[in-house]
Amino acid sequence: MTHLMSNYGRFPVAFVQGAGTRLYDEAGREYLDFTSGIAVTNLGHCHPNVTQAIQQQAETLVHTSNLFQIPGQEAVAQKLCQLSGLDRAFFCNSGAEANEAAIKLARKHSKEVYGEHKFEILTLEDAFHGRTLATVSATPRPKFHEGFAPLMPGFQHVAKNLAALEAAISPQTCAILLEPVQGEGGVLPLTPEFLQGVRNLCDQHGLLLILDEVQTGIGRTGTMFAFQQAGIQPDILTLAKALGNGIPVGATLATEQVASAFTPGTHGSTFGGTPLVMAAVLATLQTIEEEGLLQQAVEMGEQLALRLQDLLEHYDCLSEVRGLGLLRGVVLDRPVAPLVAKCLDLGLLVLSAGEKTLRLLPPLTVSSQDIHLGIKLLEQALQEVITPVAQP
Ligand SMILES: *Cc1c(COP(=O)(O)O)cnc(C)c1O
Repeated sequence: MTHLMSNYGRFPVAFVQGAGTRLYDEAGREYLDFTSGIAVTNLGHCHPNVTQAIQQQAETLVHTSNLFQIPGQEAVAQKLCQLSGLDRAFFCNSGAEANEAAIKLARKHSKEVYGEHKFEILTLEDAFHGRTLATVSATPRPKFHEGFAPLMPGFQHVAKNLAALEAAISPQTCAILLEPVQGEGGVLPLTPEFLQGVRNLCDQHGLLLILDEVQTGIGRTGTMFAFQQAGIQPDILTLAKALGNGIPVGATLATEQVASAFTPGTHGSTFGGTPLVMAAVLATLQTIEEEGLLQQAVEMGEQLALRLQDLLEHYDCLSEVRGLGLLRGVVLDRPVAPLVAKCLDLGLLVLSAGEKTLRLLPPLTVSSQDIHLGIKLLEQALQEVITPVAQP
C-alpha cells in the first residue's frame, strides 16, 4: 500500500536516470523526453554545467537564510534584470509562490499609491497561475476550485478580448495578470497586438501589468522571455519552472518603483534563493548564452511546427498546430489522454494541455534527429490509436 496522497494520476513508470533528451526507467528502457519535466529541464537532463555548479556549491555552502547577504542572489538578480529590463528581484521556490509575491506586491504598491480601495486583479479565461489558494483563485477553472471554497477575493476573470478587459476595469482594479502563451490552458498564444493593447489599457488606467512567464520564460519560446516578441515591458514578471533546470526556484521581478513597496519585513521565504539554488540558476542562464540555445529553440521550434503541420494533412482528427518556439500544441477532436499513453508505450514522453490538446516541450538542446524520431514515434502512436484519413 502506498503512503503517498492520491492527488496525482501517475503513469506506472519510474525513471531512474536522465541525460540530455533521454530518460531511462528501472528496466533500463530508453525514452525520448518531449516534456522536459513540464517545461523545467530546458537544458536537458543533468546538464554537466548545472551538475558541476550544484556539486561545487554543495561542498562549499548550501543554506544560510535571508537574514544575511547572499552574493549568489545579487549575481542572479543582476543577470535577470539585465535580461528583462526590470530592476529588482525576489527569490522563492515555485511558480505559485512567485505569483503570490507578485499579487502581494501589486496590491501593496497600488494601495500605497492610490488608496486602500485599489486591490483587484483581472485574469483571463483559460489562465493557469498555480495551486495555492490565491493563485487558484486567480485561475478561472472550476475544476481546480471544487471543494476549496471560500476562494480568495480580489480577482475577476475576464474573456480574452480588449473590450471585455476595458469593461471590467473599475476604480478598484490594480493590475492585469496574464501568461503571454497560456500553457496549461491549451497552448494558446496571445497575439502581440492583444498584448500591446493590454499594455495600453494598463497605462491609461494606472494598472500594473503582471506577466506570468513561469512556463514561457527562460528561452522556452525562442527568446529569453516571451514578452520580448510582443515589444512590451511588464511592471512585474514571474519566473520559475526552467530557471534552475530542475532545482526548485521561483523569481518575481519588478520595476524599481513597484518593488519599493516591499520594505524590510513585508514578505519573505525561508528557502528563497539559497546559495545552492543560485549556483544552479547562474549556471543555467550562462549555459543558455554560451550554447546559443535561444537561436536553437527558434530553429528547432520551427522544424517541430513544420513536421506537426505535416501530420495535420494526414490525420483528420488533428485540427491545429499552435504555440511559439519549443512550446507547441496540437489540437485534437477528441480526448488526448489515449494518445499520450500510447506515446509512452512507444518510448516518447508527451503532455496534454486541457482535455484535447497535445503539448510538446522538448528541451532547448533538442537536435533535428530527436525531432525526427519524436515525430516518427508520434505518428506511430497516432496510427495505433486513431485511424488515418484514407489516402487517394
Ligand atoms: C506551472 C505554472 C505555475 C505554477 O508553478 P508551480 O511551480 O507548480 O507552483 C504558474 N503559472 C504558470 C503559467 C505555470 O505554467
